Amino acid sequence: MICKVGKDSFGNEYIENFKRNEISTEFVGQTEDAATGAASIIVNSEGENVIVIVPGANLLVDSEDLKRAADVICKAKVIVCQLEITPATSLEALKMAHASGVKTLFNPAPAQADLHPQFYTLSDILCCNETEAEILTGLPVGNPEDAGKVGSLLLERGCKLVIVTLGAEGCVMISKEDPIPKHVPAGKVKAMDTTGAGDSFVGALAFYLAYYPNLSMEEMIRKSNFIASVSVQAPGTQSSYPYRKDLPQDLF
Ligand code: ADP
Repeated sequence: MICKVGKDSFGNEYIENFKRNEISTEFVGQTEDAATGAASIIVNSEGENVIVIVPGANLLVDSEDLKRAADVICKAKVIVCQLEITPATSLEALKMAHASGVKTLFNPAPAQADLHPQFYTLSDILCCNETEAEILTGLPVGNPEDAGKVGSLLLERGCKLVIVTLGAEGCVMISKEDPIPKHVPAGKVKAMDTTGAGDSFVGALAFYLAYYPNLSMEEMIRKSNFIASVSVQAPGTQSSYPYRKDLPQDLF
C-alpha cells in the first residue's frame, strides 16, 4: 500500500487499521499539509450508493513516494493502480511496474474522460464498472452486450484484457487472446449495501493473480464475483469485506 494520510485522527485510525490487518505501513506517509482523504456515502433502500470524495492527502502522493517504494513495486507479483491519487503518479507507478514485468491491474476509479493513452497500453488488466466504462468511452453500458462492445473498444486502446463489472449481473471479460466477450454471472444474493463491491472484486482478483496465477482468468473472475457478492450482503465498505477464514475454503 503506497498512500498518504493526514496527521489527524482519521489518519491515525487508518494506519492502526492497516496494522490490525497485517498490511505493511512502510509506504503509508503521514503529512501535515492536508487532511486524510474522506468519502461521504449515501446508501438507498436498494443498497445503491452515491459517494462524495474529498481526496485530501491522497493527492500529495508523488514521484518521491514511488521512488522510496521502487524496490517493492518492481518485485511485486501484481500492482493495483487507480485514480484516487493523481493520475500522473498512478501512471508513473504503472510504468515502473510494467518495465519490471510486474502484472498491472488498473481500476480507473473515479473515472476521467481524458485518460492519458498510456494507461491503456500499460494495463495488463483494466477493470471498470458500468459508469466508468461509459465515462472512458462515451458509450452507455446497461447490459452484458454493451459491456462487450465497450470492452472491445478499450482493447483497441491497448489493454490486454478488459473486465467490465455489472453489479448484480457479475461482469464481462474480453481479451486480446480471446476477443469474444464472455459474460461471467454473479450468484443471486440479497444486496444490502453495494458500496465497495468494485474494490472487493479488484482486491480478490489481485489476490488470485498473485497467489493462483495458473487458474484460468474465467475461474479467477468467478471466484472474485463470489467474494464481491459476499461483500454486498453486509453494511459498510471495508467492514463488509469477508476475511479469508470466513469464506468457503474451496475458494483457495
Ligand atoms: P462498483 O462497486 O465499482 O460500482 P459493481 O457494482 O459493478 O462495482 O460490482 C462489482 C462486483 O461486485 C460485481 O461484478 C459483482 O461480482 C459484485 N456485485 C455487486 N453488486 C452485486 C449484487 N447486487 N449481487 C451480487 N453481486 C454483486
